[in-house]
Amino acid sequence: MRYQPVIGLEVHVQLLTGTKIFCGCSTTFGAEPNSQTCPVCLGLPGALPVLNRKVMEFAIKAGISTNCSITPRSIFARKNYFYPDLPKGYQISQFEDPICQHGWLDITVEGEETKRIGITRIHMEEDAGKLVHGDLSGRDDDSGVDLNRACTPLLEVVSEPDLRSSDEAVSYLKQLHQIVTWLGICDGNMEEGSFRCDANVSVMPVGSDTFGTRAEIKNVNSFKFVKQAIEYEILRQIDLIEDGGTVVQETRLFDPNSGKTRSMRSKEEAHDYRYFPDPDLVPLVIGDDWIERSRRELPELPAQRRQRFMNELGLPPYDTEVLTASRALADYFEAGVTAHGNAKGVGNWVMGEITRALNDSGTTIENCPVTPVQLAELLKLIDNGTISGKIAKTVFDEMWKSGKAPQTIVEEQGLVQVSDSGAIEGIIDEIMAANAGQVEEYRSGKEKVFGFFVGQVMKASKGKANPSVVNELLLNRLKE
Ligand code: ADP
Ligand code: MG
Ligand code: ZN
Repeated sequence: MRYQPVIGLEVHVQLLTGTKIFCGCSTTFGAEPNSQTCPVCLGLPGALPVLNRKVMEFAIKAGISTNCSITPRSIFARKNYFYPDLPKGYQISQFEDPICQHGWLDITVEGEETKRIGITRIHMEEDAGKLVHGDLSGRDDDSGVDLNRACTPLLEVVSEPDLRSSDEAVSYLKQLHQIVTWLGICDGNMEEGSFRCDANVSVMPVGSDTFGTRAEIKNVNSFKFVKQAIEYEILRQIDLIEDGGTVVQETRLFDPNSGKTRSMRSKEEAHDYRYFPDPDLVPLVIGDDWIERSRRELPELPAQRRQRFMNELGLPPYDTEVLTASRALADYFEAGVTAHGNAKGVGNWVMGEITRALNDSGTTIENCPVTPVQLAELLKLIDNGTISGKIAKTVFDEMWKSGKAPQTIVEEQGLVQVSDSGAIEGIIDEIMAANAGQVEEYRSGKEKVFGFFVGQVMKASKGKANPSVVNELLLNRLKE
């Protein structure tokens, strides 16, 4: 039998607010345990939560950017469970009437047509604290609770079960990741857990219209692991069914070391969260004017920008994809185009030399030592024949190191391209005189020797001779 995988993702997005969702405590990472707490996030009796306006604004931005409708009256709910890192005994989340609903993202997987993936809902919630194990007071079996992370704002983005392969899941996840980082509402750091994903996976016979029972794989924290975890889980479920077993609904954990998933808890052990509206928080009523203002304040989104790069700048799809990898990269590229004019030319340099240099030095485009305007100046020196494309790479490396303007480097190091035919002819004459044998060969029909002469002239001119002038003059002189 052949099987069809069905996948739905639940993504937790940690929001880049300076303070927590229901109190004024800082959200900075890595502080002394429990130093960023107050009666609200410690869950002390009588302390009352107040919604951080920024969390709502970020949620609305995320919702509009993922084609959701914004719920005019949304409410907070208590999700009840017991765990030592949850001092109140409940997590404030949203259950019925989350802030964003019914959205979608269009994804593409190489070689396939664009596919629309439904987004069921996006809701706001608080994170829990964390347990710390080890030596805390001279005993190595200590366990402590650090509540700095308690009350950190999260969005949970829940997709419809529309994904059909691990590649589709990764494509969806990457696009969502790009949107939240582009909006500047999340730092996107998957290793630190700022963007993490639960993958729900089931399989059904091809052609069936009833989904199989799903397993939920918790907290997978890299694109690579999401792909591995889903692929392992699909095969595990198919093997199980083929062996006459049945898939049970359960929560599983992915182990990156083995590449396998293992059971964490079954449906029987699942929590009954007894959701109910939180009486401490009033319903959140969002007017149309507010939504309109958010819409106007949104930056141009990645998909729109790709479209514009193709339509207005005439870039091919591959280039637009690479150049919109991040908002900062797209901004850099566009500033370069404004200063220079030739989109394809600037794009090639950004995708080529700039990207290479960034990788080599382990920096990001935000800290690129060569400004877009300097890059444009360098390209203009190539355009007007001052330097060759090859010399430009040398100049570029020097710009990167010293931060000097390209003109300055060209002058200081005497790199101006020689296009003057008199000077080049002089070099050609010397080289022909010194290599009479090769001249004979060429004239007797061995045209391959031409490359040898070009090489010699370029070498003698220290790479500064204008290659097209060299070619032209050489042809003439060798033909004589
Ligand atoms: P829960 O609240 O228990 O996590 P939901 O109904 O909210 O359950 O579903 C959570 C996720 O599981 C959603 O992303 C949804 O698309 C996905 N999902 C639901 N049914 C299936 C299924 N049969 N196979 C794969 N994914 C599924
Ligand atoms: Mg779930
Ligand atoms: Zn607090």
